[in-house]
Amino acid sequence: MDKDIEWKELENKIKNCKKCSLWKNRNNPVVGEGRKNAHIMFIGEAPGYWEDIKGRPFVGKAGKVLDELLDSINLKREEVYITNILKCRPPNNRNPLQEEIDFCTPYLDRQIELINPEIIATLGNFALAYISHKFGLEKKNIGIMHGKMFKIKTLFGNICIVPLYHPAAAVYNPQMKDILLEDMKSIKDCL
Ligand code: URA
Ligand code: SF4
Repeated sequence: MDKDIEWKELENKIKNCKKCSLWKNRNNPVVGEGRKNAHIMFIGEAPGYWEDIKGRPFVGKAGKVLDELLDSINLKREEVYITNILKCRPPNNRNPLQEEIDFCTPYLDRQIELINPEIIATLGNFALAYISHKFGLEKKNIGIMHGKMFKIKTLFGNICIVPLYHPAAAVYNPQMKDILLEDMKSIKDCL
């Protein structure tokens, strides 16, 4: 099937999704955005306040940090694809529940299949846990894994996984920002 049609179908499914209870409080689901044939995918945790209002990923304070990180290696938002583990906002930005992750991640799996990226950068622990498990990577503490490259062979080619701290952690913490900026260089090395 035509990829554009598959994307449309996926977007419609997410927009109408009621698989977990998060649909009840959402203003907008956040499908994700960017290039559909991007080389790099960034995967965050879940929409927050502004993302839910605008229906776009990383448009609040954490998004500002992500923009800076992209800028530091001369990448534009339009050149990458950005999405989250959960497509709807958890109340008060609480952590995702395992059952919500189980219901929602088939959408992410499909996005990964359609984009077939060379690099997946995970933002924070939830994305790292899911992606490690999916690709059979031994999950160690993010304090150990951050900024390293993990090369995985798949049926569809090689994928380079780069675990990053969540940009929200750097909003009020310049030291964390420095670590993130340093870790972004691994993405550049993967390219
Ligand atoms: N935090 C996330 O994990 N994702 C967003 O889209 C925004 C903030
Ligand atoms: Fe559906 Fe995911 Fe939203 Fe839950 S979070 S309602 S599974 S799109």
